[in-house]
Amino acid sequence: ASCLGIMGGGQLGRMFIQAAQAMGYQVAVLEPEAGCPAAQVTGQHIQAGYENQPGLMALSKLSKAVTTEFENVPAESLNLLAQTSFVAPAAACVSIAQDRIAEKNFFTRCGTTTGVYPAPHLAINSQDDVAKVSDDLLPGILKTVRMGYDGKGQARVRDRAELAAAFAGMNGQVCVLEKMLPLAYEVSVLVARGVDGEAVVYPIAENVHRDGILFTTIAPSTHVSADVVSKAQAAALHIIAEMGYVGVLCIEFFVLKDGSLVVNEMAPRPHNSGHYTIDACITSQFQQQVRALAQLPLGDVRQHSPAAMLNILGDVWYEGDTDTMREPAWDQVLAIPGAHLHLYGKAEARRARKMGHITFVSSTMIEAQANLGKACTILGIAAPEWA
Ligand code: ATP
Ligand code: MG
Ligand code: MG
Repeated sequence: ASCLGIMGGGQLGRMFIQAAQAMGYQVAVLEPEAGCPAAQVTGQHIQAGYENQPGLMALSKLSKAVTTEFENVPAESLNLLAQTSFVAPAAACVSIAQDRIAEKNFFTRCGTTTGVYPAPHLAINSQDDVAKVSDDLLPGILKTVRMGYDGKGQARVRDRAELAAAFAGMNGQVCVLEKMLPLAYEVSVLVARGVDGEAVVYPIAENVHRDGILFTTIAPSTHVSADVVSKAQAAALHIIAEMGYVGVLCIEFFVLKDGSLVVNEMAPRPHNSGHYTIDACITSQFQQQVRALAQLPLGDVRQHSPAAMLNILGDVWYEGDTDTMREPAWDQVLAIPGAHLHLYGKAEARRARKMGHITFVSSTMIEAQANLGKACTILGIAAPEWA
């Protein structure tokens, strides 16, 4: 059987491998951590860092095509792999998604066609830049240009004094200040494109975050108007084509209180908000990534059931606020109709650590959401407003 390769051994790598194996592929994974979620499901674990030359050589020797499960993979590593293997997404695309300024500049260029723009923003490289910020950008959110995720590397600032203090606390990292926008809700659009330029777009997913971490995703979104659906999907298709991107890409958008659409950021890989596709779509985002990487035709993106996804963090292993740990009551959760439990095999259940997710599928969204609410009660999680 032929072998595919992936950089990164977390849960996204694990689910990619599982989809690839279902199609008869072997998968090699490059990941420094022993016993990581992905290594548990493949015999081909190259235990080395993402910049380790022998590790990269071994990965490209084993794999006819290589992908990545996280956006912060060094672009040089992808370029090195590309000398001998097909690499998707390409280093040039991943580089844009790694840098909030490059990403916003790119989105702004696309905006001429899509009519969808990023939030008003300004690069902040020094206290001089802080002084130059126009009052119109405040209150705002200061974000590090690189490496931030799950709301890390961000500070909400009300005025210039808070901005100056927040920037001083970023240890010299290059930042961008974004105007704080009045969000009505947040959505994400998953798109995929093959090497032949054929592209597909999934339904609009609606996301709720808690403490900066994705909490729930429902798909299709219950709030979006037909206008927002067509604008967001068209923008996503334009963005992926404009980059010449190959593979699965997730683009996050804000819908503002006045109904307008703003593009926030993108992840050059399958995304947590697309996990529902495993249980609710004809082709999951992971199978889609396998298809794109193996240069096979893309699969049908149709959703066959409304779905509500709940992220499972390490917190549910703890009794309330105490340090006492116990296994969550999966038997009760799995008694709920349409519950699909996915656990990532992480050894240690730390608070705020993504340990798994549960997707509730049903014939109606109302029921899927209510079932997710029941699971929250069983697991001791405060239920979302709509449950
Ligand atoms: P992720 O884990 O999705 O990669 P991240 O750490 O890269 O997140 P963002 O998605 O940019 O960060 O921001 C995190 C959250 O903060 C958003 O989902 C949104 O709720 C809020 N947020 C970000 N930017 C703005 C903004 N300009 N106006 C209002 N809210 C915002
Ligand atoms: Mg992000
Ligand atoms: Mg985000």
